[in-house]
Amino acid sequence: MKIICIGRNYADHAKELNNPVPKKPLVFMKPSSALLVNNKPLYYPTFTEDLHYEAELVLKICRNGRHVQPEFAHKYYNQIAFGIDFTARDVQQQCKEKGHPWEIAKGFDGSAGLSNFVSIDRVEDKNAIEFYLKKNEEIVQYGNTKDLIFTFDYLISYVSQYFKLHQGDIIFTGTPAGVGAVEIGDVLEGFIKLKDAPEGGQLFLNCEIR
Ligand code: MG
Repeated sequence: MKIICIGRNYADHAKELNNPVPKKPLVFMKPSSALLVNNKPLYYPTFTEDLHYEAELVLKICRNGRHVQPEFAHKYYNQIAFGIDFTARDVQQQCKEKGHPWEIAKGFDGSAGLSNFVSIDRVEDKNAIEFYLKKNEEIVQYGNTKDLIFTFDYLISYVSQYFKLHQGDIIFTGTPAGVGAVEIGDVLEGFIKLKDAPEGGQLFLNCEIR
């Protein structure tokens, strides 16, 4: 399976890192060894001193496809999850300055925190999904898919021009503003608002940094 990731897909996040708002999706990948599931803790990597969380909604691909047209894209994903795109920000900055690929900053073991998936039918409107991340019980990131620069359907269509989508592939769809550092002992909790869940949203993911 592939883990496809989209960078800078919320304008307020692009701005907070002093990056331009992109005209095309920024695409990168993580290896499957990056997956961190079942609410397992993340052990702070030894090669960074600035480990960041990036809260993201994640889509699961449900059928194979290449060159998917935007009007059919909705047929290619049917489940959603909460993900954390863990990033070694200092390493990423060094890679960017040198013009190097940034896999070591974004694709290391455990860098793809992922909750269980639920049917996308459980959200009221996929163009207005609210999600948020708590760090030590305080909300640090809040996102709403109405603020996406590139919609889910557009992303599916765009990515499938380059990479054949396979059933089971997943797509991290980008993070809103509010990314920040974690320290050992921090607890991250990810919530998504579902139409059949409690008012404040449903807890999807819980991850302790050790
Ligand atoms: Mg990200």
